[in-house]
Amino acid sequence: MSSVQSALRLLFLSTPVGPLGSGLGGGVELTLMNLSQELQRRGHQLQVVAPAGSVLGDIPLAQMAGKLQPTAHTQGRQTPTTLPDTAVLANMWDYARQVQDEYDLIVNFAYDWLPFYLMPFFRRPVAQFVSMGSLSVAMDAAICQAAERFPGRIGVYTQAQANTFACATRCRVLGSAVDLSLYEFCAQPQDYLVWMGRISPEKGLEDAIAAAQRSQKRLKILGKLEDPHYWEQIQPACQTAPIDYLGFLTTAQLQTVLRQGQALLMTPRWIEAFGNVAIEALACGVPVIAYQRGGPAEIVQSGKTGWLVPPDSVDGLVKAIAQIAQLDRAACRQQAETAYSLAALGDRFEQWFHDILQSD
Ligand code: UDP
Repeated sequence: MSSVQSALRLLFLSTPVGPLGSGLGGGVELTLMNLSQELQRRGHQLQVVAPAGSVLGDIPLAQMAGKLQPTAHTQGRQTPTTLPDTAVLANMWDYARQVQDEYDLIVNFAYDWLPFYLMPFFRRPVAQFVSMGSLSVAMDAAICQAAERFPGRIGVYTQAQANTFACATRCRVLGSAVDLSLYEFCAQPQDYLVWMGRISPEKGLEDAIAAAQRSQKRLKILGKLEDPHYWEQIQPACQTAPIDYLGFLTTAQLQTVLRQGQALLMTPRWIEAFGNVAIEALACGVPVIAYQRGGPAEIVQSGKTGWLVPPDSVDGLVKAIAQIAQLDRAACRQQAETAYSLAALGDRFEQWFHDILQSD
């Protein structure tokens, strides 16, 4: 057996902004679940450490008490690092310190300063999966110092995301995946569009609503209501537009709505690190209409599996909506199968872990 294939003992530390399954962690929750399932299926031994109340199927889970971290995207660029008293993040890392000798490798999925700071204090190697682009001066410094001091240990979703950091060339692009068996292909859509994600200003939901309004198309909105103040602000547009807000759905529920949509609209204002919702749509055969920047621009094959439109252009969205019929739903599912399978994700992460352990 080559060392890539030999069973590893892995300790994964989840995001401390919310329990797994709450939706507060955004796409990294799905990535962590998919990756854990695939690695466990391959015979690796793993445990996930996460805030109390987390749900993660049959993956061994150590649940930690403590106060949740604020999400990085709600803090300003200059905001210093914060840790609440009795922070769950601190408890998670204290636990990791105590059990570290039972593992070959520790992998952090939290976009927080503390796990980067702690890297040199651990006997076991700590790898970092960074789930968002540059958001703060403090995190930029922590990530790039770690990249310098521990070459090869920083993983990211996409090149566009890596490019937001000064240490872009030291980041390893790992992508994401979907469990294709959970998303059913739908060849004949109903007459509506879908928008899916955390309802928070950086996701630009108001543009999708404006585009649906101008196109006179129904828009089904699915996702965690993360920022109630923002939701209030966009209510005037919601009153007149043909929209339905369906709340935060499980993967099984969301794919029944998503797969019958004519297209998924992705309208982020920020540089989206990846956009798991894009590959969930493709897995159902649903084309993706997205702004041409960040992760979606690396995923969507414009003219084939969706349309990439000028960033922040509602006109661009409206034009693309009028051209949905030119896209091939079978090609969407095909792209998900070839580029975003769990097997492909498992291969990339296994190779990354192997390289870290070889050089340690
Ligand atoms: N999602 C969900 N239920 C919903 C809407 C969205 O579980 O009703 C999940 C979706 O499956 C995806 C995540 O929310 O995994 C959003 O992740 P994405 O990578 O698109 O954006 P992020 O939140 O990480 O910025």
